[in-house]
Amino acid sequence: MSAPKSDPPTADRAYFAAFLDLRGKPAVVVGGGPVAALKAETLLRSGARVTLIAPQACARVAELELAGALRHMAKRFEPADLAGADIAIAATDDQAVNEAVARTARGLRIPVNVADNAALSSFIMPSIVDRSPLQIAISSGGASPVLARKLRAMIEALVPFAYGRVAALAGRFRAASRRRFPDPEAHRRFWEEVLDGPVAEMALAGREQAAVDALEKLVSGASEQPIAQGMVYLVGAGPGNPELLTLRALKVMQQAEVVLFDNLVAPAIVELARRDAERLYVGKQRDRHALEQDEINALMVRLAKQGRRVVRLKGGDPFIFGRGAEEIETLAAHGIAFEVVPGITAASGAAAYAGIPLTHRDCAHSCVFVTGHLKDGTLALNWDALAQPRQTLVVYMGVHGLAPLCEQLMAHGLAGSTPAALVENATFASQRVVAATLAELPARAAEQGVRPPALVIVGEVVRLRNALAWYEPGARGEPQPAAEGAGVASG
Ligand code: SAH
Repeated sequence: MSAPKSDPPTADRAYFAAFLDLRGKPAVVVGGGPVAALKAETLLRSGARVTLIAPQACARVAELELAGALRHMAKRFEPADLAGADIAIAATDDQAVNEAVARTARGLRIPVNVADNAALSSFIMPSIVDRSPLQIAISSGGASPVLARKLRAMIEALVPFAYGRVAALAGRFRAASRRRFPDPEAHRRFWEEVLDGPVAEMALAGREQAAVDALEKLVSGASEQPIAQGMVYLVGAGPGNPELLTLRALKVMQQAEVVLFDNLVAPAIVELARRDAERLYVGKQRDRHALEQDEINALMVRLAKQGRRVVRLKGGDPFIFGRGAEEIETLAAHGIAFEVVPGITAASGAAAYAGIPLTHRDCAHSCVFVTGHLKDGTLALNWDALAQPRQTLVVYMGVHGLAPLCEQLMAHGLAGSTPAALVENATFASQRVVAATLAELPARAAEQGVRPPALVIVGEVVRLRNALAWYEPGARGEPQPAAEGAGVASG
């Protein structure tokens, strides 16, 4: 049977994409300005031996020459300068010189690029997403450099920096793996499994030595691919607005098999988990079915032991009033691998979005985070330490205990006129800021019906809000917090 015939390809690509090996190869850059210097540096990064030709050169070129990185010939360009070169780049502001370089290079069949002049160039330089040894090259073929730049920004955000590490690790073992799997098909399968499995996971999480050890065993045949071992990611989901997630948080969510979340995590954030991930509400709200802390811990252990990739989403930062430590202590006790992904804590989110800096050279040299959670109806805090001048106080879970909080601070020396604010639903479209004095805040909060989640901020910095507030809550299409009354138990 003959394969169906298909037409020969049409020439619909502007350029032939390729990566050149220039290590140790002679390269010539003509021009002495900052653009020429940049081109020279790009060549140097690829290991080329660069000669730069220009009667005068900028400071950067002088630096590079002084460091022994390139050779600068202080002269005008002549065709003989390209003899023996593997590649040429012209970046002068003299069109005639650029044309001469292009003509000479083409005559000698040397690839040539003229800065900002695709017509004179035989090759163009793409923009690069660099995860060396991985490189992603992007070009719009000159059609829209701005679009290419946007695409580059998207890819930059998408590809973990650690991919370079994983690629380098794979590179180190490539010769050995080829010896072990002489059959190319088996060799390919080996790497597919490795790169989908725990070894890659360890490298991505920065556990380089563990990855090397495991890979050494696999390549030497001393062990089978370790059975996909479960792993728990304790992820800070930030104060609520999904834009404030970290790249790492987004990445692990997109690989999650199970996501455990509670009421402080906005639905829009839970949405960002991998589409087929199982989503389990383990919230801490009295009126919805929820698990106790030790049940959550036990559930994570059970899921991980089944080999699942579990993301435990926490509001804000997991290590700030998030019981993150308790959760991973249990994991550690069971020998389960975990990673902690920090998040923007509510204090940072509220400060930024309410225009209240937490420190300031003039009026706040320290900042203290405390929990205002009532225990048996009272607040057990070190009041003398909190009622200090030139200090910002941020109270988490302080809505229900607001009145005793303000009273105690005044009783321990803070003036009733000290500025204070409540930031409700910080970073959400429904954010509200109620600002008053310490003496008046409880009454104002009650009038306005402030409800959790909200943060109390006390200190002179609250005044700066008048000048620094920039966020306009309520813009349409902005994210909303979880259910009505989110954070009840933590209020
Ligand atoms: N780990 C979290 C804090 C959990 S404690 C973090 O780092 O932010 C819960 C308290 O955080 C709430 O009672 C409230 O005081 C505060 N909080 C969380 N999200 C908030 C938000 N979007 N706006 C205001 N306060 C918030």
